Amino acid sequence: MPQAIGYAAQAADKELEYFEFERRDPTAEDVEIEIEYCGVCHSDLHQARNEWGGTVFPCVPGHEIVGKVTRVGSKVSKFKVGDTVGVGCMVDSCGHCHSCDEGHEQYCENGFVGTYNGEDKHLGGVTFGGYSNRITVKEGFVLKVSDKLDLAGVAPLLCAGITTYSPLRHWGVTKGHKVGVVGLGGLGHMAVKIASAMGAEVVLFTTSPGKVDDGKRLGADHVVISKDEEAMKEWTNSLDFILNTVAAPHDLDAYLSLLRLDGTMCLVGVPAEHHPSPAVFNLIAKRRSLAGSLIGGIAETQEMLDFCAEHGITSDIEMIAMDEINVAYERMLKSDVKYRFVIDMATLKQK
Ligand code: NAP
Ligand code: ZN
Repeated sequence: MPQAIGYAAQAADKELEYFEFERRDPTAEDVEIEIEYCGVCHSDLHQARNEWGGTVFPCVPGHEIVGKVTRVGSKVSKFKVGDTVGVGCMVDSCGHCHSCDEGHEQYCENGFVGTYNGEDKHLGGVTFGGYSNRITVKEGFVLKVSDKLDLAGVAPLLCAGITTYSPLRHWGVTKGHKVGVVGLGGLGHMAVKIASAMGAEVVLFTTSPGKVDDGKRLGADHVVISKDEEAMKEWTNSLDFILNTVAAPHDLDAYLSLLRLDGTMCLVGVPAEHHPSPAVFNLIAKRRSLAGSLIGGIAETQEMLDFCAEHGITSDIEMIAMDEINVAYERMLKSDVKYRFVIDMATLKQK
């Protein structure tokens, strides 16, 4: 079996460090990929530190993968050696439940296989993610990537892009809608770009005064400092939809009250602890909905990649070397990233 190298957390309280492991040889249905870039999602940090529970160590995070095909199995028809491809948060699902039939593999009733910390049906143990030099993935979970775009900037689309595109599409965001985006991090900055490309009037809510100019440059029509209660009040009962990307518990009522009649706030941030429960009256008073959304299906991810290619959308990134990952995690915790760290896998060397 091919040897792989990468970075892993050996325990929840340990920094990530160099790690050697094995990948499987491609089966008839598999695509083998040499990883060129991998984005750094806040979920990687949550899982490497076992903040959600259930992390199996060693844990190799990474689910925003872009690279080149190096081998394909005999039944693979969509990809050939040399193609530029992407892999997101899933590498398999049951393929026969209602959700899979409808192309919503992320809601697989039998549980999808995560790109990392999922059940590895081939080698046993858990799957290892994209903080590594190579990966072998079932063809149906590999995405086509246009190599006309900056590939390092494409990597974050595989999670941050689809996680924001899917709810914006599901709730029908379009021209004439006023859409709030809460938090300008990896997910939030993609939400601002995509909602703006969909034609919406975008209102960004940030806790960081230093991000106002960037928010506007990225496509927000208005930027509100969410700690400023007076500025928040100006938006009461005005927004059709809010996409909330915050990675920490916070007061949801402050945002629910900004929705107009029948408006929806969709949560995509998954903090380690629960948010304080919102006031029921705040929902009832304007028939508002509070919802959630998980990444997006494979067909929808391809649709998102094509949408981004058409609109020239990539992520604003800070490229890092593999051995800078622990510093990057600390900066992400301080909301100090513009706006996604991406690991240049050429910096990962055999020890
Ligand atoms: P990120 O880059 O760290 O961005 C989160 C942003 O939230 C920060 O930049 C900050 O923006 C804001 N924020 C952080 N702490 C806050 C606080 N205490 N109060 C208010 N705002 C705060 O993280 P990310 O990679 O975008 O991920 C965001 C969350 O989504 C994570 O919990 C991640 O696990 C989750 N996620 C969910 C899915 C899904 O399928 N649902 C997929 C991927 C990730 P400002 O500086 O602008 O305030
Ligand atoms: Zn992610």
